[in-house]
Amino acid sequence: MNIRTICIHGASDETHKTGAIVNPIYQTATFAHIGVGQSTGYDYTRTQNPTREHLEKTIANLESGYDALAFSSGMAAIAALMELFEPGDEIVASTDLYGGSIRLFDNISTKNGLKVNYVKTWDIEDLKRGLTQKTKGVFVETPTNPMMHVTDIQKAAEICKERKILLAVDNTFLSPYYQRPLLLGADIAIHSGTKYLGGHNDTLSGFLVAKTPLLSERLRYIHKTSGAVLSPFDCFLVQRGLKTLAVRMDRQSENARILAEWLSKQEKVKKVYYVGLDSHPDIEVSKKQSTGFGSMISFEAESGEAAVSVLGRLKIVQFAESLGGVDSLITYPLFQTHADVPRSRNEENGVNERLLRLSVGLEDIDDLIADFEQALK
Ligand SMILES: *Cc1c(COP(=O)(O)O)cnc(C)c1O
Repeated sequence: MNIRTICIHGASDETHKTGAIVNPIYQTATFAHIGVGQSTGYDYTRTQNPTREHLEKTIANLESGYDALAFSSGMAAIAALMELFEPGDEIVASTDLYGGSIRLFDNISTKNGLKVNYVKTWDIEDLKRGLTQKTKGVFVETPTNPMMHVTDIQKAAEICKERKILLAVDNTFLSPYYQRPLLLGADIAIHSGTKYLGGHNDTLSGFLVAKTPLLSERLRYIHKTSGAVLSPFDCFLVQRGLKTLAVRMDRQSENARILAEWLSKQEKVKKVYYVGLDSHPDIEVSKKQSTGFGSMISFEAESGEAAVSVLGRLKIVQFAESLGGVDSLITYPLFQTHADVPRSRNEENGVNERLLRLSVGLEDIDDLIADFEQALK
């Protein structure tokens, strides 16, 4: 079935007794047992709930995975992923990464006995250099937040397979509509469903998608035990958002391409980072493994003061964290998403006081350009 159809019909194996077109919200914490040792298949909502199950099956179908698990946020999903590892294990991760993941790895995973080596995963030689005998997992975000580096998932997967290392890919920036890491050889796909999957900036959510029954079983155990599961109502919101994933992403990406090209021509814009620009160093890898470029753009203003001025003057584009939704949002990574990352590391990665990160939404493109035109004056 085409991915556009899966977005609408979700887990189509589901049969509804009532004929309801929309999967209902089972707003219940617990389920009555038929008898001792008997179950309807549902016992307690932390373990499973029909609303969540429907959403999880939909996400598994979209990502071509064996199973998907819905968490209360993207960070809850990544924290659960890290529970697969043991003290003494080493993880290799992209050095340019969502700031929350860096905070988790450096302060919580490390405290739990893991060592995280950061490398440029988009440079396969650098990825290889980061691996040791103790490496048990590789964590790739592609494209990265906020610098838009693209890692060749297939090549990373080959290296991991050879050494029996688990490859997890944070697929938040492209969603399964544009990129399916499991089909490229990854073991686990990760999402902040707060972003494109939900798409409306109205709920948090996170997903882990497992390729194999064994990984699914291990993750299910962690999921129900640590308990950061997605509530039935939030599952409903994500399922509703998913129905328009394809059209949203296509239009947002088209808006982003036009805006990125326009920004590239502005004298007051020093650099533009957008995967779909011909000048982007990873555009060919991106074309090989993804069917679209997404709607995330980072750019550098002339100075820190100029960046602050742009943020203050934009009227349609709102100054807020998050991304992927229908509303265009702009953030200041150095002081927001990446505020907890050591300053020297931010500088090295290109996250400086001039850099702004933009998530292009569904507004009319001429209105967006006009907004930037007046803000950059
Ligand atoms: C937002 C984000 C996360 C964290 O997700 P939350 O839903 O905010 O917890 C993880 N990875 C990426 C790439 C993100 O953009």
